[in-house]
Amino acid sequence: MTSILNADLHCHSVVSDGTLTPEALALRAKANGVELWALTDHDEIGGQLRAAAAAKEVGLRYLTGVEISVTFANETVHIVGLGFDATDPRITEGLQATRGGRGQRAQEMSAQLAKVGIHGAYEGALRFVGNPELISRTHFARFLVESGVCRDTPEVFRKYLTDGKPGFVPHRWASLQQAVQWITDCGGLAVIAHPGRYRFTANEQYALFSEFKAHGGQAVEVVTGSHSPSEYVTYADMAKEFGLAASRGSDFHSPDESHTDLGALPYLSGELTPVWELLAHRIQ
Ligand code: AMP
Ligand code: MN
Ligand code: MN
Ligand code: MN
Repeated sequence: MTSILNADLHCHSVVSDGTLTPEALALRAKANGVELWALTDHDEIGGQLRAAAAAKEVGLRYLTGVEISVTFANETVHIVGLGFDATDPRITEGLQATRGGRGQRAQEMSAQLAKVGIHGAYEGALRFVGNPELISRTHFARFLVESGVCRDTPEVFRKYLTDGKPGFVPHRWASLQQAVQWITDCGGLAVIAHPGRYRFTANEQYALFSEFKAHGGQAVEVVTGSHSPSEYVTYADMAKEFGLAASRGSDFHSPDESHTDLGALPYLSGELTPVWELLAHRIQ
């Protein structure tokens, strides 16, 4: 398979912080011309069977997917896993453990927001949650928009939910090694998600790429809804420098919130090794 493929290997459903069901996403991906799809919910693979079945129904090739939250150099980094066996207990148990802290974190976020006069945020956020094990900052953001505190979700993150702001609660996620291992132990391939989004120094970024590679990570997202065109070039160069394959994905969450729709991205450059070439045997 060539790099000229409309692959969308990063998006979210109601099983994490997206607003569409896996079935609706499969239909939307197909309608948008996607040729190979993966649903990558945060820290959760409960939607994988539904997504694979829906993909088959609409005639769309499918790879299993997940996006794992990791703490690296005191920052949250996301590692996408593709093509793993979603029934293997090593990944299901690892993810269950890492999801565990979300409930407590949400209660603490709510208590902090109450101190700045925003009451009932936990209960409010819960109304937007599709999966009780997966309450995320996005659900708080939707509640704060609905209740008129902010105009849109980026404003909520800017004013309340990022480091140093009143509703931010630091959290320790899985380690980089754990995330890469859960994915690769189960036959999958680990991908550094949207590297352009982390606020790392050049040294920290170098450490992330080298350690990721040392743990068995094999790819990096180059073309993503979170990158600017100049970052496509930067991370294509990083992929080549570190001998990593390249991935492509919109990171679509919702028709109302996401600026990049499923499948609506430039193709990967022909000089990169696309992840789907390494995962040909895992495509359903
Ligand atoms: P959590 O895993 O609960 O920390 O939530 C992280 C999610 O919040 C990400 O996956 C994004 O969907 C969303 N998010 C993070 N930063 C922003 C932002 N600045 N604007 C809008 N959404 C954001
Ligand atoms: Mn998200
Ligand atoms: Mn992410
Ligand atoms: Mn994502």
